[in-house]
Amino acid sequence: MTRLKIKIDGHEMEMDVGQATILEAARLAGIHIPTLCHHPSIKPYGSCRLCTVQIVKNGRKKFVTACNYPVEEGLVVITDSAEVAGIRKMILELLIARSSQEERLLETAREYGIFKPRFLQEDKSCILCGLCYRICEELVGVCAINAQNRGVSRDVDTPYGELSEDCIACGACALVCPTKSILKRRNIYPLSCADIKEMEEEYLCGTIDNDLGVNREMFAGKSNIEGQDGGMVTSILLQGIEAGLLDAAVVAQKNKSCGANAVLVDETESILQAKGTKYVRVSVIAPLLDALLKGEKRIAVVGTPCQIRVVRKLQRQGYFNDKFPDAEIFLIGLFCFESFDYESLRNRIRELFGIDLDKAEKTQIARGKFIVTVGGKDYSCPVRELKSQVRAGCPFCGDLVNLLADISIGSIGSEEGYSTVIVRSERGEKLLEAASFNRKEISRDEIVKLAAIKKKNADTNFAGILAGLPNRDEFSS
Ligand code: SF4
Ligand code: SF4
Repeated sequence: MTRLKIKIDGHEMEMDVGQATILEAARLAGIHIPTLCHHPSIKPYGSCRLCTVQIVKNGRKKFVTACNYPVEEGLVVITDSAEVAGIRKMILELLIARSSQEERLLETAREYGIFKPRFLQEDKSCILCGLCYRICEELVGVCAINAQNRGVSRDVDTPYGELSEDCIACGACALVCPTKSILKRRNIYPLSCADIKEMEEEYLCGTIDNDLGVNREMFAGKSNIEGQDGGMVTSILLQGIEAGLLDAAVVAQKNKSCGANAVLVDETESILQAKGTKYVRVSVIAPLLDALLKGEKRIAVVGTPCQIRVVRKLQRQGYFNDKFPDAEIFLIGLFCFESFDYESLRNRIRELFGIDLDKAEKTQIARGKFIVTVGGKDYSCPVRELKSQVRAGCPFCGDLVNLLADISIGSIGSEEGYSTVIVRSERGEKLLEAASFNRKEISRDEIVKLAAIKKKNADTNFAGILAGLPNRDEFSS
């Protein structure tokens, strides 16, 4: 590869053509350039402009942002002149005008001699660096938030400022936000490990199991309902309604356009229609709010770990208590290793077996195989062959066993025809008391093994985000 020569603050460097930006070259040379909006895992953006440097090109001087300016032959870069410091100083003052409480920002400002910012302080906290929505879109792949409006009205928000239906509460945006502003948004749901621990303490009650979460009991259950595995979810809902413990439930129901969507059900027929695992992610928020607005008081929400996290976050923010003080929400969490993009899965299944997924009587994942039943016949392939069909965001979720649910239910760890049930709260226990079923022992080791694999995969993906933080600059937390 052709090499090129550049000079940064008088140091000569040789680099491969197309190898780096000025920021990366400076870091290689051990020269510190401050930046707030840069993360190595996502495309450079140049929004905070704190990395401004001066370049000399063809005998002419100009100011550029180091994070997105590519190095080129003969480039001369000046990072430490009085003019550069003056520009950064002005930028810092403007940033402090938006976020005057962020200690690390103030610390750097002091390094540039700013002790008393000149501009009116709005205390919006968000400095519009764009890291949160770029991580959410480019890395996590969810795109729950974005920049909205222009000029002084510019902000970060969900479409129309509504509660996000897409956010999976992975917390990636909170990790990269330099001002913690993202944690103040009430319509997305980033959670940290500390948040999850606090929620376990607040909502759950039982023995703490480091691998499988808080629990009061774990067993394999089989109801008399013909359904997925032991039919435990359907049975708990039906008998909960019958016993007067539940008024309605939010469940995923199969549909042909996107695989499934969440619906509100309150009687036997609709509950039975929704039985069976769908392996697609559905948002439960709209039907849950619908139920609450209709005046339903005791509502069960059946969801994947990401959806249960979302409801818990809303609960913790006081969203339900403020608006619906009498409501009692029961969270029934499904085990979930990953979900699929339905359209892509349908195409892949057609390609592999020549069958139509829309016509499937049943889909299941067992012993590493994805099994589709059509016309009474089973078609299967190793789940790893469907890697490209996995839904964006799932690789950032490390929760297999639905750690924040009142009751978690799945097939892993139980023999065929049974469901594994983990009861995590008194509320969950109350609901289960109304249901009748046969019990057996579970294989804890089998669940722990898969839970560890899922956690490790997510940790690896988060490690990529964390690795980018210390290198970013002193604002990283
Ligand atoms: S919320 Fe945080 S990460 Fe997002 S733009 Fe504002 S300061 Fe940056
Ligand atoms: S928590 Fe995850 S999905 Fe939600 S907005 Fe943040 S990065 Fe996006």
